[in-house]
Parts: sequence; structure tokens; C-alpha cells
Amino acid sequence: MRLVLVGPPGAGKGTQAQFLAAHFSIPHIATGDIFRANLKAGTELGNQAREFMDRGELVPDSITNNMVASRLEEPDALNGFLLDGWPRNVAQAEVLRAMMIEKKTPLNAVLEFSLADEEIIARLSSRRTCRDCGAPSVGVDKCPTCGGEVYQREDDKAEVIARRLEVYAEQTAPIISFYRNEGLLISVSASGSVEDITASAISALSRVAQ
Ligand code: AMP
Repeated sequence: MRLVLVGPPGAGKGTQAQFLAAHFSIPHIATGDIFRANLKAGTELGNQAREFMDRGELVPDSITNNMVASRLEEPDALNGFLLDGWPRNVAQAEVLRAMMIEKKTPLNAVLEFSLADEEIIARLSSRRTCRDCGAPSVGVDKCPTCGGEVYQREDDKAEVIARRLEVYAEQTAPIISFYRNEGLLISVSASGSVEDITASAISALSRVAQ
């Protein structure tokens, strides 16, 4: 299964991605997580990405696309993958299409999680993230997954959330029509319980050829 997840920040893509990746036995490739791991490790890539991430802007395509291209060459991604957070603009979607044509491995589906702006803002502003494992949580002092310290991501602060939503509307939302035109788009509501959303996503994806 070669799958792309699209949806506004805070729609729960990361949480759903983990369940879907396990269900389909494919690696979960999240560009935001790769950037954050690089920031934490103080790598050159992390330093290049930091200023864009802290402002809620997209990291330039020249940096992001190379990072994903090398990740997709790793052995675990050769038979399928779940991309979470890339492509995030039409130029990136074109790069992915060209890659898949070259490898003769077309995408199976693009799953869109939709959520109203008010719910996005409420979720993001109360979200905390684990410094150790990256899991999201709400209203707790320690990470419920691993017990690590939780913090508020710089880009989950109110002023940056507003910018991320603008960036989503201007740059990312156009890829939804792009994939609808390609006949690949499946839309699922991201409102409701985590379990119900996972069940709707799996049911919608079970109708897709693999
Ligand atoms: P996320 O965890 O997916 O919300 O990503 C956090 C931040 O990483 C974004 O706000 C961007 O600054 C950067 N980022 C993640 N994916 C991409 C991408 N596909 N293109 C450009 N920047 C990205």
C-alpha cells in the first residue's frame, strides 16, 4: 500500500498514521517528525529547518524533497509507505508523481482528514508533545506513552497556529483538488473518537486496490 495522508495541522494525522501504518504493515514517514528529530540532534538539516518551523512556514522544497527522496530509498519503504506531512504543496505533489512514475509504483490512495478551523485551533493550543517519543497528549504533566517530559511545540503557540492555518489554506489545500483530479482522493471526517476515525479510514481504504 502506497498511501499519502493530507489534512490540516491538528487533524490527528500523526495518531491515525501510526494505526494505519501498523494495520497495513508499512513504514510511517512523517516529515515533521524527521525535522524535529534533526532539530533535537542539532544536525545541519535541523539547523536549516528551524527558522521556518518556528515561524509556521514550510521548509523550502529543495531541502524537504531530498530528505523524503532518500527516506523512500530505504529498504523498508520499497514495498509501500504511508507519507504523513509530505507532499504539502502542489510542487511537492508533482515531485512525488514523477518519482512514482519513474519507479512504476503508483500511489494507491490519498486520504484526507477534514476538520473545522475552530476545532483545529482548540486541539492545537491544548496539545503537548513528548520530548522523548514525540507522542501528543492533553492535560498531563508526563507523557502517557513513555513517561517523558511534555512541552508545547513552538509552532503550537497561538500566533504560529494562525500562520500554519494560512499556509495550509494557501499552499496545502490545493493538493486536495490535484489528487481528486487524479482519482486518488478519499475523504474522512477527523472529528470524533480516535477509534471511530481509524475504523472509517480502514473501511474506506479497504475498497482501494493494493
Ligand atoms: P508537522 O509536524 O507535520 O506539523 O510539521 C511541522 C513543520 O515541519 C511544518 O510546519 C513545516 O515547517 C515543516 N514541514 C513538515 N513537512 C513539510 C513539508 N512537506 N514541506 C515543508 N515543510 C514541512
